[in-house]
Amino acid sequence: MRVGTPKEIKNHEYRVGLTPESVRELVEHGHEVQVERSAGLGIGATDEHYREAGAQLVDSAEQLFAECDMVVKVKEPQAVERAMLREGQILYTYLHLAPDPEQTADLVKSGAICIAYETVTGKGGLPLLKPMSQVAGRMSIQAGATALEKAHGGRGVLLGGVPGVSPAKVAVIGGGVVGFNAAQMAAGLGADVTILDRDPDVLEKLGNYFEARAKTRFSNVANLAECVAEADLVIGAVLIPGAAAPKLVTRDMLSTMKPGAVLADVAIDQGGCFETSHPTTHDDPTYIVDGIVHYCVANMPGAVSRTSTYALNNVTLPHALRIADLGWKEAMRHDPDLAEGLNVWNGHITYEAVARDLGYAY
Ligand code: NAD
Repeated sequence: MRVGTPKEIKNHEYRVGLTPESVRELVEHGHEVQVERSAGLGIGATDEHYREAGAQLVDSAEQLFAECDMVVKVKEPQAVERAMLREGQILYTYLHLAPDPEQTADLVKSGAICIAYETVTGKGGLPLLKPMSQVAGRMSIQAGATALEKAHGGRGVLLGGVPGVSPAKVAVIGGGVVGFNAAQMAAGLGADVTILDRDPDVLEKLGNYFEARAKTRFSNVANLAECVAEADLVIGAVLIPGAAAPKLVTRDMLSTMKPGAVLADVAIDQGGCFETSHPTTHDDPTYIVDGIVHYCVANMPGAVSRTSTYALNNVTLPHALRIADLGWKEAMRHDPDLAEGLNVWNGHITYEAVARDLGYAY
């Protein structure tokens, strides 16, 4: 199969669909790989790295879309990319169609076979989303630590303290993938960590893992209010699948917090779990409300494009190889989890939730 990776064109997107190492794997499997010139610069991978891995460098996305059987990307195709898709061509990338009727209509019209990373299942979860939650969770502590510095409006506290000075208190609300990774980082730095969740199984798992390195609390109004009032840094990491995030920290609660404390709302991509959150960008990541610093960047993994691309490729490549080796139909017949990724095929929506939300026949 001829597989291609274009340069990402969405604003501030530095990740890339295939690393040079992934290209090498595909080439070893006997496939031809095209990479658009300078596609990897955002992760520090030069055209020379791709050439050494066996890729054929092409000058334009037009050529790549015209010649490749499968296009592997990171972000949903932008309008100019959608116009280049062909009937029967495989598109393998994040799509997030439900809130995007325009993109959905274009993909349906294209006749392409569109496989969405975010709906591929595995081991009871969504393994192609997980690495980005891992990245965001770990990064939230880095971002929170920076925001706690005096020059950034914070209260001038070092997360781990130093010998003779207490460490910072970190409250992590939501103990799923983001929360677990945030707690790991915070505990590793020596902070005083409390994780709140409302699922007793999650609390038990976290308790067994962290033992004395982090406390767990049931997430109710009283416990939340107490932990937020005491915290130097609060991480918002809740998710109610398919719903907007609940507003767990109200504006009133800010007045109980220490001036210069930090709220990092990772759940901002689902509307945020603090009442005072609104989305920010990497260019201007924080703002202050009632003396409390807010960090609410909606695409945190984009800032660490190299780590994120490698983490993503670790989970996307095995499916890409199978699709290329067997053809998409046979690959999905062998792997029902991959079949869950099929969102659009031959002018039809093939993913029930997307069809229902956007009013297509299913
Ligand atoms: P997850 O499903 O693994 O974990 C969510 C956890 O929230 C679960 O353990 C659940 O029990 C808990 N929860 C639900 N309601 C709660 C409540 N009232 N109090 C306490 N806990 C509660 O989800 P995840 O992968 O960790 O993702 C968390 C959020 O981070 C999602 O909104 C996700 O979209 C977002 N995210 C954002 C970025 C970004 O760049 N900002 C990147 C990745 C993920």
